[in-house]
Amino acid sequence: MRKVYLDNASTTYVSSEVLAEMLPCFNTIYGNSSSLHGFGREASAIVDRARDRVAHAINAQKSNEIYFTSGGTEADNWAIKGIAHAYANKGKHIIVSSIEHHAVLDSCKQLEKEGFEVTYLPVDKHGLVNIADLLHAIKKTTTLVSIMTVNNEIGTIQNIKAIAKTAHEYGIIFHTDAVQAIGAVKIDVQDMEIDAMSMSAHKIYGPKGAGALYLKNGVRIENLFSGGNQERAKRGGTTNVPAIAGFGKAIEIAVRDLSINQQKLKTVREYFITKVKERIHYIQVNGHPHQKINGTVNISFDMIEGESILMLLDLEGVAVSTASACTSNSLEPSHVLRAIGVPDEIAQGSIRFSFGKNISKSDVDYTIDVLEKAVAKLRGISPITKAGRK
Ligand SMILES: *Cc1c(COP(=O)(O)O)cnc(C)c1O
Repeated sequence: MRKVYLDNASTTYVSSEVLAEMLPCFNTIYGNSSSLHGFGREASAIVDRARDRVAHAINAQKSNEIYFTSGGTEADNWAIKGIAHAYANKGKHIIVSSIEHHAVLDSCKQLEKEGFEVTYLPVDKHGLVNIADLLHAIKKTTTLVSIMTVNNEIGTIQNIKAIAKTAHEYGIIFHTDAVQAIGAVKIDVQDMEIDAMSMSAHKIYGPKGAGALYLKNGVRIENLFSGGNQERAKRGGTTNVPAIAGFGKAIEIAVRDLSINQQKLKTVREYFITKVKERIHYIQVNGHPHQKINGTVNISFDMIEGESILMLLDLEGVAVSTASACTSNSLEPSHVLRAIGVPDEIAQGSIRFSFGKNISKSDVDYTIDVLEKAVAKLRGISPITKAGRK
């Protein structure tokens, strides 16, 4: 059976160039990068090179502004909790959008339990944060604004530079979760005035379990982990050299190939949406019509459940996702679709197709065929009708 992987926003395969970079770090250059002997220095040179690559990829001023983490979740937790705590004497109010990843939202929930105040900004029907809403939310006690660069469910790209500038006018620190943006949108932390930024390797053809927090020099943060002196005494724990080596290579390639990949994915996206609209009725494409990344397409299919579509596609070898990977095993409708005003009964019928850089036209055609059949089958037998749900 043909297998088509359309869940690249959940995770990607590790590219062969990345794997080749990692392999020697398992059994040849295996020293602890904190050790002073030759084995350690060899490993630490690998980590230094990866740090330079990450810094270069996002145009950080200095490589020492990159702190390696176990991934995007840790970077988000660290940024939100660590910055909020470091500036708590100045104020205990932070602002985030209502469509953030759960790593950010749940960190905010934790802060609220500790007595911090959090404002969750609304977004418009395309998923964009409005600057006027941000201005309205800012208080004397606001210390941090965190707005994701690209949303993982609908692919909308925020006006990051304008948001960062607004925060800075009030002396507020600006963090962004750029996990879905790397390789899809040009990121220049200096030009975009980003103070802190979360990244992850496994969404960009790197390994799982590696990522980084960019933290502009001068921005204070409290540690999340207590332990050793790794990462300039900001993040204890033995350095994951192979994964970091892979991350460095992956981000270098992601930036190198950004425009060619995006051009290809734009063609795929337009073709896919056109064909699906032609062949399947009662659907809506969610997210911004043009201010969005090309790899992610979110579609709501009226009158049927997303889970049922996912199962039928899976039987034909096509892998998709219902909402974000983290919520796909709960029946709560997506907080993102809710925030852009999709009614719950429509949101329940939503599927995220996230295309990878290796996608072929015949895989797209195959997907459209099995999707058309799945939807027809489900609508034929669905107890949910236009008149109302069962
Ligand atoms: C995947 C993802 C994360 C979490 O990253 P991990 O490396 O899997 O922990 C955070 N934010 C966004 C937007 C993501 O898509």
